[in-house]
Amino acid sequence: MNLDLNSFEEFPAETTLEFEVDYIDFVSQGFSFKDLLTVKIGIQEINDEYYCQAYLTVPVEEECCRCLTLFDDELLTDFTFSIKIGKGDSVLSSESDNSDVILLGNGEHIVDLSDVIREAVMLALPSKPLCDEECRGLCPNCGVNLNEESCKCKGVEIDDRWEDLKDLS
Ligand SMILES: [Zn+2]
Ligand SMILES: [Zn+2]
Repeated sequence: MNLDLNSFEEFPAETTLEFEVDYIDFVSQGFSFKDLLTVKIGIQEINDEYYCQAYLTVPVEEECCRCLTLFDDELLTDFTFSIKIGKGDSVLSSESDNSDVILLGNGEHIVDLSDVIREAVMLALPSKPLCDEECRGLCPNCGVNLNEESCKCKGVEIDDRWEDLKDLS
């Protein structure tokens, strides 16, 4: 997931990058990426420092936390980061204690965006995905998906005749 600063003739610049999401070693239950991840990045340059505004979208498949069906969704999120060109030898981005700043060595121009993208995706993940705000979930009694069919469980509970039968036994 690389951004090449040399691919721009001047700043501010804007670019749209597409990445395979396989490169994100990220696993979550009931969640999968369906297609390429798209990141649109606007870059401003001030004194050898690059300020980036990114907008990320990726089609995903999620599991509804109420009815457990898989549904298609799209993650959308925006995030910012900056790129600093270090002085002297190459500076690894992992040496930065702030993950939103990517450090590059003098003369370097390839920026690895994996970390900032991974972080943005993690933050964008819904903690309780819902196929629909109105999702009726599963019947806790018989397990029927109440969005698709209704069951008789509730009717049974409030049916007085059954209460009477209980008294007889
Ligand atoms: Zn649902
Ligand atoms: Zn039921």
